Amino acid sequence: MNQEVRTRFAPSPTGGLHLGGVRTALFSYLFAKKHKGSFVLRVEDTDQNRYVEGAEQYIIDCLAWCGISPDEGPHKPGEYAPYRQSERKLMYKQYALQLVESGHAYYAFDTSEELEKMREELKSEKNPSPQYDASHRMHMKNSLSLLKEETDKLLQENTPYVIRIKMPQNEIISFNDMIRGEIKNEADLVDDKVLLKADGMPTYHLAVVVDDYLMKITHAFRGEEWLPSAPVHIKLWEYLGWKESMPQWAHLPLILKPDGNGKLSKRDGDRLGFPVFAMDWHDPKTGDTTKGFKELGFLPEAFINLLALLGWHSGEEKELFTKEELIAAFSMERVHKGGAKFDFDKAKWFNHEWIKKLSDEDCAALVKPILTTKGLKIEDDSFLIKAVHLVKERCVLLNDFYEQSIYLFESPFTFDLEAIQAKWTDEKKLFFIDWINILESLSVWQFSDIETSFKNLATEKNIKPGELQLPFRIMLVGAKHGIGVFHIADMIGKEDTVNRMKKVLGML
Ligand code: GLU
Repeated sequence: MNQEVRTRFAPSPTGGLHLGGVRTALFSYLFAKKHKGSFVLRVEDTDQNRYVEGAEQYIIDCLAWCGISPDEGPHKPGEYAPYRQSERKLMYKQYALQLVESGHAYYAFDTSEELEKMREELKSEKNPSPQYDASHRMHMKNSLSLLKEETDKLLQENTPYVIRIKMPQNEIISFNDMIRGEIKNEADLVDDKVLLKADGMPTYHLAVVVDDYLMKITHAFRGEEWLPSAPVHIKLWEYLGWKESMPQWAHLPLILKPDGNGKLSKRDGDRLGFPVFAMDWHDPKTGDTTKGFKELGFLPEAFINLLALLGWHSGEEKELFTKEELIAAFSMERVHKGGAKFDFDKAKWFNHEWIKKLSDEDCAALVKPILTTKGLKIEDDSFLIKAVHLVKERCVLLNDFYEQSIYLFESPFTFDLEAIQAKWTDEKKLFFIDWINILESLSVWQFSDIETSFKNLATEKNIKPGELQLPFRIMLVGAKHGIGVFHIADMIGKEDTVNRMKKVLGML
C-alpha cells in the first residue's frame, strides 16, 4: 500500500461498549498497526437524543484497558481535529447544500403528521413500512415536487426542513467489501435518507461520509448491521465527487449467541450469566450497573486474544497471541464472513492461560487491589507473591484469587466438620495432639520438615497418612479445597498452624 493506512473506530456514546464493538475497534487497530498506519477514534455524537453522559470517557477507558490506543482522538487531537462530531457540526451543512445544488439531494418540508399520514396510506400487507422514496417523493412536500418559487418562499419563511438524499432509480449499487467481496444492492429498495436534520445537525449517514473523507480514512471497519446503509454511503461518496478517495469497507461478522442464532445481546448475557460489556457500565439514567469483563477478573491480554479469534483465524493451531503477535499475524483474508458463536467457557480458558503466563510479581500486583477491596490485609508483598505462585494454577479469573487464597491470610471462621466426623477416632485426635508437640519443637519451619514429621509420626502410630490429611486440611482451610496442606502450613507459619489445629481439636 502506497498511501498511509488510516482506520477509524466511530462509536456513538450511547451506553456500555459491547464486545462486538471492541472487536471492531481491535480489527481496525490491528489492520492499521500491521500496515504501520494510524488508528483514529471518532466519537459520533450527533444524535443528541441518544447521547449518554459519561459514555465517551467510558469508551476511552475501555480501549485503554484493552491496550488499543488511538493515535488520534478527542483526548489526543491530531491533524484532523476535532474528533467529536458535535464539535464539527458547522462543517456538514455545506456538503448537504452542495448535494442540493448538484441535484442529488433536496429540501423536504413534510411535518411529522404528514409523514405519518403517508405511511398510514401506503401501508399494506406487502409493504408494511413504506419508505420515502422515488415511488412517492413527488407526492410529498419537497423541493422536487414544489415549484422553485414555492420552495424559496418556504425557505425564506424559515419553514423547518430536512435535506434528503435523492436515491437513483433502476440502478444496481455495488461495492467491494474486504471480507464479503462484491456486494450489490438495488437502489430502488433504499429510501431517501435524511442527511441534515431540522435542527441543522447531520445524520449519521452524512457525517460518517464527510468525516471519513476529511480524516483521510482508507479502510472502514464496522459491524455487519451497517451493510444496509452502505448503498447510501456509496452514493454520497460518488455525489460529493470523492469516489476516488472512498475507503475500502470491511463489514465484520456478527458475534452470535452461544445457543441459537442471532446477535449476542446484553439480555443473552444476563440470561446465561456472563458479561457482554468490556467494563462495568453505570447507566447514569437508570442508576443500574451492568457487569463487564474487566471487573469479573479478565485480563486485557486474554480479552483481546479471545475477541481476535471471534471471526478471524490465524491459519495455525496456535491460539494464544500477544497483541504484537496479533498485529504480525492479522490478515483480512482470514476474517470469516459467517457469524462467530460466543463461548464463555472458551473465554475463561483464554483467561486461565493468560493468568498462568503472568509472572508471579505481575499477577500479585493485579490481585492485590482485589484482595484488599474484599477486606484482606496484605502487609507483605513477598508473601502475596508466594501465595500467588501457589494458587495461580487454580484461578481462572483474577477474582478467584480471593477464594483460592483467603486461608493463607486469615484463619477460617467456619469448619466443615461433617467432612471428617464419620471417620474421626480417638487415635486420630491423639495423633494431632502429639504432632502439635513435635511441631512446636521444630526449629526450622519449612514444608519438607513439616511433612516428614507428619509422615514419621503416622508410621509410628500405624495410621495411614492419607486418612490424616483431610482432617488437617479442614483445620487449616475450613473446607475441602486448597493447595497442598504442608505448603499451607509452611505459608501461615508455626503459630497460626498450631492455633488452627487446636481450635478444631477443641470442637471434636
Ligand atoms: N456510529 C456508528 C456506530 O455507532 C458507526 C458505524 C460506522 O462505523 O460507520 O456504530
